[in-house]
Amino acid sequence: MKKIRKKLLRVHGSILIFIGVALTINSTIGTYLGIGIFSFLQKNEFALIGLFQAYLLMAVIGIVLWMGSTQENMRKWHLIGALAHIPPLTAIIMFWSHFVSMEVDSIVMFVAIFHCVLMGTESVFLIRKSKPMPDKTLRCVDCGNEFSFSEKDQEFYNQRGFQEPKRCKDCRDKRRRERGGSRGFGGR
Ligand SMILES: [Zn+2]
Repeated sequence: MKKIRKKLLRVHGSILIFIGVALTINSTIGTYLGIGIFSFLQKNEFALIGLFQAYLLMAVIGIVLWMGSTQENMRKWHLIGALAHIPPLTAIIMFWSHFVSMEVDSIVMFVAIFHCVLMGTESVFLIRKSKPMPDKTLRCVDCGNEFSFSEKDQEFYNQRGFQEPKRCKDCRDKRRRERGGSRGFGGR
């Protein structure tokens, strides 16, 4: 579950950074050179002022999502992800008749569906609490006894990227004492 949360934030973040930067460049080129899908901006260069900021801000939100994906509790970061769909979706609804007259409505519809799917998924992740990891029972490689690997310990091990413990606490303490002891006598 945590992995999917992380992946979702990073996929959405990457898309936002890529599209945000691409549209910033495209709209600027369109305005000043009259090339590409934004060439119509040449008629009114001042229209770039809002677009330039909005597209670059999209990329900034992408960076925010990437930062969120490195946090321990990723739930609230899906709120940023879900909210990021509101401006484009609202714009699609507002300008729908224009898209129809430009005959790009099928492409824009596809984009809108993509937004809705991502927004829905992120809303689910926002509402749903991460399931706590249940305590695990592991077998000690030294004494063969079963021992409990608690939820708290699992989180601690996960955070530090440690592998699951192989030995029970008694055996671990014993090994530590033996190593510490031998060191005390000048051995390794
Ligand atoms: Zn043991």
